[in-house]
Amino acid sequence: SVSEALQMLKSHGDDAKLLSGGHSLIPALKLRLNNPGVVIDISKIEALKSISIDGDTLKIGANCTHAQIANSDVVRAHLAMICETAGNIGDIQVRNVGTIGGSVAHADPAADWPTVLIAAKANIQIEGPGGRRSVAAEEFFEGLYMTALADDEIITSVSVPSSAGSKSAYAKFVQPASRFALVGCAVCLKVDGGNIVSASVSQGGVSDHAYRDTAVEEALVGKPASDETMSGAAEQAAEGIDVMSDHFADEGYRKQMAKVFTKRALVAALED
Ligand code: FAD
Repeated sequence: SVSEALQMLKSHGDDAKLLSGGHSLIPALKLRLNNPGVVIDISKIEALKSISIDGDTLKIGANCTHAQIANSDVVRAHLAMICETAGNIGDIQVRNVGTIGGSVAHADPAADWPTVLIAAKANIQIEGPGGRRSVAAEEFFEGLYMTALADDEIITSVSVPSSAGSKSAYAKFVQPASRFALVGCAVCLKVDGGNIVSASVSQGGVSDHAYRDTAVEEALVGKPASDETMSGAAEQAAEGIDVMSDHFADEGYRKQMAKVFTKRALVAALED
């Protein structure tokens, strides 16, 4: 149970690490980036495996696999972007074993869930010795593999309200070997009478953590839902941001790709 896992985390302190799908933790252990004395397997906790609707909010348990989410009619009816994202993570094996909770806790800058959950205005539910708390996805991801989660806490679920906007899309530049996002942009829009009345836009893969792109949002709201507006807004992507550079893509290329994939996400959202 969650309380047993919390108890074990408390008794082993820094020496313990939670294990869910193991698709990020096990590679990290193999590379000796992590060397815990105790691994606490939470993957069998049934209470963390359910998907439900509470009022206008979708709740996805932390132990739900990407495949379970991709195949859920409940999720699709709530926000199709969530299903599409889950269905395009890694390969079949990764999707059948990797979990949303593990991905959110790991906070890889190239992962898909952080970006999509920020645009969807999701909240991360956490349980720890001090009780339960909820953190907005926008505030949860703090840096390279760094989050607002404390060492003695467990993510129990992710909740997605319906308020972000029904027109949504996520577009990523697929890293061909892993299918992680070289860059990825998620968009939720509300359009009324041909005008964009609200926009929620986030970027992943661009900097050390997924973030809300307010410059793109500001370039959209109050404007006609036209190709011209989308192109102008996409030009704002990744501006004023410390853009990452690595052996896959240097800073200039990554920044340009952020603009390209922002435009693609905006156009796809409008067509949703
Ligand atoms: P684990 O590896 O078990 O754990 C990861 C970390 O989270 C550990 O530190 C663990 O202690 C912690 N943790 C786990 N569960 C919890 C919890 N409930 N509360 C608190 N802490 C917790 N990801 C993408 O986004 N897009 C991709 O295209 C993609 N491609 C991949 C391709 C390959 C070949 C591989 C191996 C991975 C890929 N991934 C991709 C990552 C994949 O989605 C992982 O499954 C995910 O990042 C981690 O989930 P997990 O359940 O495997 O977590």
